[in-house]
Amino acid sequence: MRPFLIAGNWKMHMNAAETRAYFETFKGLVSAAPNGVSMLLCPTFTSLTAAAEASAAITGMHIGAQNLHFEDKGAFTGEITAEMIKETGADHVIIGHSERRQYYNETDETVNKKTKKALSAGLTPVVCVGEFLEERKKGIHFEVVKKQMVAGYEGISADDAKKTVLAYEPVWAIGTGETASPEQAQEMHAFIRAEFTALYGADVATKIPLLYGGSMNAANADELLSQEDVDGGLIGGASLKPDSFQQIVGFAGEIFAKNG
Ligand code: PEP
Repeated sequence: MRPFLIAGNWKMHMNAAETRAYFETFKGLVSAAPNGVSMLLCPTFTSLTAAAEASAAITGMHIGAQNLHFEDKGAFTGEITAEMIKETGADHVIIGHSERRQYYNETDETVNKKTKKALSAGLTPVVCVGEFLEERKKGIHFEVVKKQMVAGYEGISADDAKKTVLAYEPVWAIGTGETASPEQAQEMHAFIRAEFTALYGADVATKIPLLYGGSMNAANADELLSQEDVDGGLIGGASLKPDSFQQIVGFAGEIFAKNG
Protein backbone atom coordinates (compact mmCIF):
# COMPACT_ATOMS: atom_id res chain seq x y z
CA MET A 1 0.00 0.00 0.00
CA ARG A 2 1.14 3.58 -0.69
CA PRO A 3 2.29 5.64 2.30
CA PHE A 4 -0.09 8.31 3.56
CA LEU A 5 0.45 12.07 3.55
CA ILE A 6 -1.68 13.93 6.07
CA ALA A 7 -1.48 17.63 5.28
CA GLY A 8 -2.95 20.72 6.90
CA ASN A 9 -3.72 24.03 5.23
CA TRP A 10 -3.89 26.73 7.87
CA LYS A 11 -4.98 29.44 5.39
CA MET A 12 -4.85 32.94 6.97
CA HIS A 13 -4.75 31.69 10.57
CA MET A 14 -2.01 31.35 13.18
CA ASN A 15 0.65 34.01 13.69
CA ALA A 16 4.21 33.00 14.58
CA ALA A 17 3.60 32.84 18.35
CA GLU A 18 0.45 30.73 17.85
CA THR A 19 2.39 28.50 15.46
CA ARG A 20 5.09 27.84 18.07
CA ALA A 21 2.44 27.09 20.71
CA TYR A 22 0.69 24.68 18.31
CA PHE A 23 3.87 22.69 17.73
CA GLU A 24 4.65 22.63 21.45
CA THR A 25 1.26 20.96 22.04
CA PHE A 26 1.54 18.73 18.97
CA LYS A 27 4.98 17.49 19.99
CA GLY A 28 3.45 16.24 23.23
CA LEU A 29 0.91 14.24 21.21
CA VAL A 30 3.07 12.98 18.32
CA SER A 31 6.87 12.97 18.49
CA ALA A 32 7.17 10.95 15.27
CA ALA A 33 4.82 10.12 12.42
CA PRO A 34 3.50 6.55 12.56
CA ASN A 35 5.02 4.03 10.17
CA GLY A 36 3.79 4.67 6.60
CA VAL A 37 2.65 8.23 7.31
CA SER A 38 4.16 11.65 6.54
CA MET A 39 2.78 14.85 7.99
CA LEU A 40 2.71 18.31 6.42
CA LEU A 41 1.50 21.61 7.81
CA CYS A 42 1.19 24.74 5.67
CA PRO A 43 1.05 27.98 7.65
CA THR A 44 0.91 31.49 6.29
CA PHE A 45 4.20 32.93 4.90
CA THR A 46 5.10 34.87 8.05
CA SER A 47 4.80 31.74 10.21
CA LEU A 48 6.88 29.44 7.98
CA THR A 49 10.20 29.96 9.77
CA ALA A 50 8.61 29.53 13.20
CA ALA A 51 6.89 26.35 11.98
CA ALA A 52 10.09 24.91 10.50
CA GLU A 53 12.04 25.62 13.70
CA ALA A 54 9.34 24.47 16.11
CA SER A 55 8.67 21.23 14.21
CA ALA A 56 12.32 20.25 13.67
CA ALA A 57 12.22 17.67 16.46
CA ILE A 58 9.07 15.94 15.14
CA THR A 59 10.10 13.06 12.88
CA GLY A 60 8.15 12.92 9.63
CA MET A 61 6.77 16.47 9.87
CA HIS A 62 7.16 18.69 6.79
CA ILE A 63 6.33 22.36 6.39
CA GLY A 64 4.86 23.93 3.27
CA ALA A 65 3.79 27.31 1.94
CA GLN A 66 0.31 28.01 0.55
CA ASN A 67 1.42 29.72 -2.67
CA LEU A 68 4.48 30.95 -4.58
CA HIS A 69 5.28 33.11 -7.60
CA PHE A 70 6.61 31.45 -10.74
CA GLU A 71 9.30 34.10 -11.35
CA ASP A 72 12.62 34.20 -9.49
CA LYS A 73 12.55 37.92 -8.76
CA GLY A 74 11.10 41.17 -10.02
CA ALA A 75 8.46 43.83 -9.59
CA PHE A 76 5.70 41.62 -8.18
CA THR A 77 4.53 43.45 -5.06
CA GLY A 78 3.25 41.15 -2.36
CA GLU A 79 4.62 37.98 -3.95
CA ILE A 80 7.21 35.46 -2.76
CA THR A 81 9.62 33.17 -4.63
CA ALA A 82 10.37 29.47 -4.37
CA GLU A 83 13.86 30.22 -3.02
CA MET A 84 12.43 32.48 -0.31
CA ILE A 85 10.13 29.65 0.74
CA LYS A 86 13.03 27.18 0.82
CA GLU A 87 15.05 29.61 2.92
CA THR A 88 12.45 29.28 5.71
CA GLY A 89 13.00 25.53 5.92
CA ALA A 90 9.76 24.60 4.11
CA ASP A 91 9.89 21.84 1.49
CA HIS A 92 6.33 21.74 0.08
CA VAL A 93 4.00 24.30 -1.49
CA ILE A 94 0.25 24.21 -2.15
CA ILE A 95 -0.56 25.32 -5.71
CA GLY A 96 -3.92 26.25 -7.22
CA HIS A 97 -6.06 26.00 -4.09
CA SER A 98 -9.67 26.79 -5.05
CA GLU A 99 -9.60 29.92 -2.88
CA ARG A 100 -6.69 31.22 -4.93
CA ARG A 101 -8.45 30.26 -8.16
CA GLN A 102 -11.65 32.00 -6.99
CA TYR A 103 -10.29 35.16 -5.33
CA TYR A 104 -6.87 35.75 -6.95
CA ASN A 105 -7.45 34.82 -10.58
CA GLU A 106 -5.25 31.74 -10.42
CA THR A 107 -5.70 29.82 -13.68
CA ASP A 108 -4.65 26.42 -14.99
CA GLU A 109 -1.85 28.26 -16.78
CA THR A 110 -0.45 29.88 -13.61
CA VAL A 111 -0.87 26.58 -11.78
CA ASN A 112 1.27 24.96 -14.48
CA LYS A 113 3.97 27.66 -14.26
CA LYS A 114 4.02 27.52 -10.46
CA THR A 115 4.20 23.72 -10.44
CA LYS A 116 7.19 23.82 -12.81
CA LYS A 117 8.88 26.47 -10.66
CA ALA A 118 8.34 24.48 -7.46
CA LEU A 119 9.79 21.35 -9.09
CA SER A 120 12.85 23.13 -10.48
CA ALA A 121 13.50 24.68 -7.06
CA GLY A 122 13.22 21.33 -5.29
CA LEU A 123 9.93 22.03 -3.51
CA THR A 124 7.18 19.39 -3.59
CA PRO A 125 4.09 20.91 -5.22
CA VAL A 126 0.67 19.95 -3.84
CA VAL A 127 -1.47 20.67 -6.91
CA CYS A 128 -5.15 21.26 -6.15
CA VAL A 129 -8.05 20.44 -8.45
CA GLY A 130 -11.80 20.21 -7.88
CA GLU A 131 -15.19 21.07 -9.25
CA PHE A 132 -17.92 23.50 -8.17
CA LEU A 133 -21.28 22.15 -7.00
CA GLU A 134 -23.04 23.32 -10.18
CA GLU A 135 -20.50 21.39 -12.24
CA ARG A 136 -21.16 18.21 -10.25
CA LYS A 137 -24.91 18.74 -10.57
CA LYS A 138 -24.51 19.06 -14.33
CA GLY A 139 -22.51 15.82 -14.34
CA ILE A 140 -19.37 17.44 -15.76
CA HIS A 141 -17.15 17.01 -12.67
CA PHE A 142 -14.86 14.42 -14.29
CA GLU A 143 -14.40 16.62 -17.33
CA VAL A 144 -13.61 19.68 -15.15
CA VAL A 145 -11.05 17.82 -13.07
CA LYS A 146 -9.44 16.25 -16.15
CA LYS A 147 -9.05 19.68 -17.77
CA GLN A 148 -7.43 21.11 -14.61
CA MET A 149 -5.07 18.13 -14.38
CA VAL A 150 -4.04 18.02 -18.01
CA ALA A 151 -3.40 21.78 -18.14
CA GLY A 152 -1.71 21.83 -14.73
CA TYR A 153 0.74 19.08 -15.74
CA GLU A 154 1.36 20.32 -19.29
CA GLY A 155 5.04 19.91 -20.20
CA ILE A 156 5.90 18.19 -16.91
CA SER A 157 7.98 15.05 -17.41
CA ALA A 158 7.14 11.67 -15.92
CA ASP A 159 10.17 11.94 -13.63
CA ASP A 160 8.94 15.28 -12.31
CA ALA A 161 5.29 14.18 -12.09
CA LYS A 162 6.44 11.46 -9.65
CA LYS A 163 7.67 14.21 -7.32
CA THR A 164 4.27 15.91 -7.11
CA VAL A 165 1.24 15.45 -4.88
CA LEU A 166 -2.27 16.01 -6.19
CA ALA A 167 -5.15 17.08 -3.94
CA TYR A 168 -8.73 16.55 -5.09
CA GLU A 169 -10.80 19.18 -3.31
CA PRO A 170 -14.42 19.49 -4.46
CA VAL A 171 -15.13 23.20 -3.94
CA TRP A 172 -18.56 22.46 -2.47
CA ALA A 173 -16.93 20.53 0.37
CA ILE A 174 -14.29 23.11 1.40
CA GLY A 175 -15.06 24.81 4.69
CA THR A 176 -18.75 23.90 4.34
CA GLY A 177 -18.93 20.93 6.70
CA GLU A 178 -20.18 18.93 3.73
CA THR A 179 -17.84 16.09 2.81
CA ALA A 180 -17.71 13.99 -0.33
CA SER A 181 -18.88 10.50 0.57
CA PRO A 182 -16.10 7.90 0.68
CA GLU A 183 -17.59 6.47 -2.55
CA GLN A 184 -17.54 9.87 -4.30
CA ALA A 185 -13.94 10.45 -3.18
CA GLN A 186 -12.82 6.98 -4.31
CA GLU A 187 -14.63 7.33 -7.63
CA MET A 188 -12.86 10.61 -8.44
CA HIS A 189 -9.49 9.42 -7.15
CA ALA A 190 -9.70 6.28 -9.31
CA PHE A 191 -10.54 8.53 -12.27
CA ILE A 192 -7.55 10.79 -11.52
CA ARG A 193 -5.27 7.75 -11.20
CA ALA A 194 -6.51 6.49 -14.58
CA GLU A 195 -5.84 9.91 -16.13
CA PHE A 196 -2.31 9.93 -14.71
CA THR A 197 -1.86 6.43 -16.15
CA ALA A 198 -2.91 7.74 -19.56
CA LEU A 199 -0.49 10.68 -19.24
CA TYR A 200 2.53 8.98 -17.69
CA GLY A 201 1.95 5.23 -17.47
CA ALA A 202 0.97 3.04 -14.53
CA ASP A 203 4.35 3.12 -12.82
CA VAL A 204 4.22 6.90 -12.34
CA ALA A 205 0.47 7.00 -11.68
CA THR A 206 0.73 4.59 -8.75
CA LYS A 207 3.45 6.74 -7.17
CA ILE A 208 1.63 10.09 -7.12
CA PRO A 209 -0.06 10.58 -3.74
CA LEU A 210 -3.71 11.59 -4.20
CA LEU A 211 -5.07 13.54 -1.23
CA TYR A 212 -8.72 14.23 -0.54
CA GLY A 213 -9.65 17.67 0.82
CA GLY A 214 -13.01 19.08 1.87
CA SER A 215 -14.23 19.11 5.47
CA MET A 216 -12.14 16.10 6.44
CA ASN A 217 -12.08 15.77 10.22
CA ALA A 218 -11.52 13.27 13.01
CA ALA A 219 -15.08 11.93 12.59
CA ASN A 220 -14.92 11.11 8.88
CA ALA A 221 -11.19 10.64 8.15
CA ASP A 222 -11.06 6.92 8.93
CA GLU A 223 -13.61 6.03 6.26
CA LEU A 224 -12.18 8.41 3.65
CA LEU A 225 -8.59 7.26 4.21
CA SER A 226 -9.68 3.63 3.96
CA GLN A 227 -10.52 4.07 0.27
CA GLU A 228 -8.06 2.38 -2.04
CA ASP A 229 -7.00 5.48 -3.99
CA VAL A 230 -7.14 8.01 -1.14
CA ASP A 231 -3.52 8.41 -0.04
CA GLY A 232 -4.06 11.15 2.50
CA GLY A 233 -5.87 14.36 3.22
CA LEU A 234 -5.51 18.09 2.76
CA ILE A 235 -7.26 19.40 5.82
CA GLY A 236 -8.27 22.99 6.55
CA GLY A 237 -10.31 23.69 9.69
CA ALA A 238 -9.56 20.43 11.50
CA SER A 239 -5.80 20.89 11.10
CA LEU A 240 -5.90 24.02 13.28
CA LYS A 241 -6.50 21.88 16.36
CA PRO A 242 -3.48 19.76 17.33
CA ASP A 243 -5.66 17.00 18.78
CA SER A 244 -7.87 16.57 15.72
CA PHE A 245 -4.87 16.67 13.37
CA GLN A 246 -3.19 14.08 15.59
CA GLN A 247 -6.29 11.86 15.50
CA ILE A 248 -6.36 11.93 11.69
CA VAL A 249 -2.64 11.09 11.58
CA GLY A 250 -3.39 8.23 13.99
CA PHE A 251 -6.13 6.81 11.73
CA ALA A 252 -3.73 6.83 8.79
CA GLY A 253 -1.14 4.98 10.90
CA GLU A 254 -3.71 2.34 11.91
CA ILE A 255 -4.88 1.79 8.33
CA PHE A 256 -1.28 1.45 7.13
CA ALA A 257 -0.45 -0.98 9.95
CA LYS A 258 -3.48 -3.11 8.98
CA ASN A 259 -2.92 -3.15 5.22
CA GLY A 260 0.60 -1.90 4.58
C1 PEP B 1 -8.77 23.28 2.45
O1 PEP B 1 -8.61 24.43 2.77
O2 PEP B 1 -8.00 22.81 1.62
C2 PEP B 1 -9.85 22.49 3.07
C3 PEP B 1 -10.08 21.30 2.61
O3 PEP B 1 -10.55 23.11 4.08
P1 PEP B 1 -11.60 22.39 5.08
O4 PEP B 1 -10.97 21.12 5.56
O5 PEP B 1 -11.82 23.38 6.18
O6 PEP B 1 -12.83 22.09 4.28
